[in-house]
Amino acid sequence: MAIKDILIWPDPELAKVSEEVETIDDEIRALAEDLLETMYAADGVGLAAPQIGIHKRMVVVDIYGSEEDRPSGEEPLVIINPKFVHKEGELTWEEGCLSVPGEVGKVTRAGKVTMTYTDLDGNEQTIEAEGLKAVALQHECDHLDGKLFVEYLSRLKRNMIKKRMLKLKAEREEEDAAA
Ligand SMILES: [Zn+2]
Repeated sequence: MAIKDILIWPDPELAKVSEEVETIDDEIRALAEDLLETMYAADGVGLAAPQIGIHKRMVVVDIYGSEEDRPSGEEPLVIINPKFVHKEGELTWEEGCLSVPGEVGKVTRAGKVTMTYTDLDGNEQTIEAEGLKAVALQHECDHLDGKLFVEYLSRLKRNMIKKRMLKLKAEREEEDAAA
């Protein structure tokens, strides 16, 4: 288990389409641990494998953000090869993303979704979600197709965010060079 570096947008690695997971082996189980650990360390409610540079169709979601805040009986979701089978309604949410730190923007998505996926034990699962959970599932699954929430924003807002991210990345590179 390890906390991984999260790629910051814009990064060509974030724009790639991820590949289906063929078999659930030790590598995939380790990836699930890394994703969960990295998500919790960054105070996120979701993280997709491509955000740590692994182009596999796998995401983790925990809308409670931590073990302490999660009601008993609820588990963090480890989602492999997700597919939306139904979407309905509309919901506008102010979204953020661990790959776009410190930024938020309003995005309108389906308000209610039904999704099928494979769990870590290799079982097919169906999940219905609404509210934040529906938003998080759609946001994370977008990452698997190389799409980030900033692409739903106006060009003006997106360009402003891009400038700040490029500045942030330059600052981090300087820090790394100095370290
Ligand atoms: Zn994201």
